[in-house]
Amino acid sequence: MSVTPTCIITGASSGVGLYGALALANRGWHVIMACRDMAKAQAAAERLGIAPDRRTILHIDLGSQASVHAFVEAFRASGRSLDALVCNAAVYLPRLTEPMRSPEGYEISVATNHFGHFLLANLLLPDLERSTHASRRLIILGTVTANYEEFGGKIPIPAPADLGNLEGLEAGFKAPIGMLNGKAFKPGKAYKDSKLCNMITGRELHRRFHEQTGIVFNTLYPGCVADTPLFRHTPRAFQVIFPWFQKHITKGYVTQALAGDRLAQVVADSQFGERSGVHWSWGNRQKAGREAFAQQLTAKAQSQQLGERLWGMTARCVGLG
Ligand code: NAP
Repeated sequence: MSVTPTCIITGASSGVGLYGALALANRGWHVIMACRDMAKAQAAAERLGIAPDRRTILHIDLGSQASVHAFVEAFRASGRSLDALVCNAAVYLPRLTEPMRSPEGYEISVATNHFGHFLLANLLLPDLERSTHASRRLIILGTVTANYEEFGGKIPIPAPADLGNLEGLEAGFKAPIGMLNGKAFKPGKAYKDSKLCNMITGRELHRRFHEQTGIVFNTLYPGCVADTPLFRHTPRAFQVIFPWFQKHITKGYVTQALAGDRLAQVVADSQFGERSGVHWSWGNRQKAGREAFAQQLTAKAQSQQLGERLWGMTARCVGLG
């Protein structure tokens, strides 16, 4: 008898997470759509035709540590096994003039994108370990703009991702601190920094737990999905020009459906279960039929010393240290 595997996807109410949920449901998975806006998630699932018996919507606000704990309790109460976890949700708030704070007092992009997923991943590791599915996976969404190794990661608007020596995190990361390196607040860079933390966390999870648990830990860049609601806080003109530029000039544009399918491939397809500790990419210029490849991360992102420091300090900020 085949058992339906279950995957949690955070931020499945729109964009990559929503289309990833559809692609996984179409592959025979049950998807727990972990979302902060239940009504929006419900409407989106219905709009895409994700079969009701292939989805469960559960509430989570990744910016709130109490909410992450409550989500884990609610998931366990569902009685389902956990066969894959996708850390996908993100906020991008490039027009803030000063840090917005999470309930715990941390800058909101890092609190949501990095702290919330770090806490969730750590709390759910034992659940993934208990799964009897043939290939258990924990997948985190990374991005090119946070990877200095690639051209897109060097763009100086407002600045490339750079965690410095984590001076701001070491100092507690509460007001007035708004950046992980302790320097002046730049909201666009706060997003990039949080995504760099996501990719470093993927590597650290692999280094710490892959051998002992057999869980596959990978990150991915699905391509430039230039028309998702991620960009809704950018100026209106940007929202028109950016997708056009990515489609016709850089050729980096990827549809939400293709990005969702790439996410589902990394979660469910056998060839992506053969390696752990990889950052999967399909490149920056999209070409039909192109295969995924292991994208190098910037040397700093691969530094074990930085990874260990980020892990330890983040653990303290989320009450695990
Ligand atoms: P999106 O459409 O804006 O989706 C983001 C999702 O995260 C939404 O469902 C959003 O929920 C949710 N979310 C935001 N804050 C949350 C919170 N506090 N608690 C729970 N959920 C929250 O953006 P997307 O482009 O699909 O991005 C998905 C992932 O792909 C992100 O990790 C992003 O960094 C990555 N990525 C995107 C691109 C791209 O070009 N778009 C490229 C590379 C990587 P609401 O609907 O309630 O806001």
